[in-house]
Amino acid sequence: MNILVINSGSSSLKYQLYNMNDESVLAKGLVERIGMDSSILTHKPTGKQDVTEVSEILEHNTAIRKVLACLTDKEHGVLASIDEINAVGHRVVHGGEFFKASALVDADTKTKIRQLFDLAPLHNPAAMMGITATEVNMPGVPQVVVFDTAFHQTMPEKAFMYAIPRVLYNKYKVRRYGAHGTSHDFVSKAAAEYLERPLEDLKIITCHIGNGGSVTAVQGGISVDTSMGMTPLEGLMMGTRSGDLDPAIVPYVMNKEELSVGEVNSMLNKHSGLLAISGISSDMRDIEAGAEKGDPNSTLAYDMYEYRLRKYIGSYTAAMNGVDVIVFTAGVGENSSKLREKVLKNLTFLGIELDEEANKVRSGDPRRITTVNSKVQVLVVPTNEELVIARDTNRIVQGING
Ligand code: AMP
Repeated sequence: MNILVINSGSSSLKYQLYNMNDESVLAKGLVERIGMDSSILTHKPTGKQDVTEVSEILEHNTAIRKVLACLTDKEHGVLASIDEINAVGHRVVHGGEFFKASALVDADTKTKIRQLFDLAPLHNPAAMMGITATEVNMPGVPQVVVFDTAFHQTMPEKAFMYAIPRVLYNKYKVRRYGAHGTSHDFVSKAAAEYLERPLEDLKIITCHIGNGGSVTAVQGGISVDTSMGMTPLEGLMMGTRSGDLDPAIVPYVMNKEELSVGEVNSMLNKHSGLLAISGISSDMRDIEAGAEKGDPNSTLAYDMYEYRLRKYIGSYTAAMNGVDVIVFTAGVGENSSKLREKVLKNLTFLGIELDEEANKVRSGDPRRITTVNSKVQVLVVPTNEELVIARDTNRIVQGING
């Protein structure tokens, strides 16, 4: 069973081809600058030379055609024919209240994804382009959609409602949905497995901190609260996103600076966060380097980022009336031992005992970074959202076949 996983953005398309017999990656790659001049396709077949091709790729249809050509190329390919791809799994950002789990693509699924365009105007239309392009190039091959929001559909009403007029929920479904669900799901399960403890018994706080970031309270294996809201702007301070702020700031600043809705949206999503406070970069590596050199703006950005993350961990400990395990994942969570140390050294009231040596170890596998006696176990678990998509696709497709 070979499964192609596709993550379509508005001008990009990432792919990964899995052999599900052993969950090995046969090839992966990326098409960038779709719709612009000189699009770039980078193809990385396992065990063979990487290939980079610059050409004009005006739409997702052509991007998929080129990817399929690479996968079956005599020299750089890994398959004899595209018939060897048994199913395709797509990442879709927003599943709204329609999707509590991954789903097979059919007419009804597509209608619902389209109905959610308003809630994810940048992401869902891009995913739809990927689905349509796959249909055109691989007719008859089953497709599955895996949603970033689905894992959080278990949140209780008290966690997902905003304290604003109910009519806005009734009319427009304004509520909290969360994101990074595939990652929070994957790392919480992997943590229970690593600790050899039943997931049902555990209170876990998962910190997915990369370019975007979110924290989730996972109780008994289900998401009971998460820091992202109706959109991925709420919650933690991120690379370029503000995270939580007083909503009154929005009309105030719009009025003072005569900003349009689009401009204020762009300010909060693309020109805030680490980038705005440091004035140098949205990348945590640059912020850490700046802080080490004594740059006051980088130091403030770093301190705010850590402080806000720590407050969410405290808040979710209260939400679950306790915590057994804290998990760090994604770019910053997996790689920044300094940030983890700073967070954990400020959470000693929870009985956390950091193992400083273990915290410095770099590895692609799940690992413990607290002492065995620590009251709360803290793990670093590398996330793998593509693998979750491939597994869900496999499960759903096998379900229909069988
Ligand atoms: P992601 O969105 O999960 O790919 O994470 C990307 C982010 O991870 C980058 O923007 C960096 O800020 C961060 N990152 C990657 N490597 C390191 C590192 N060694 N130390 C600190 N941050 C890192």
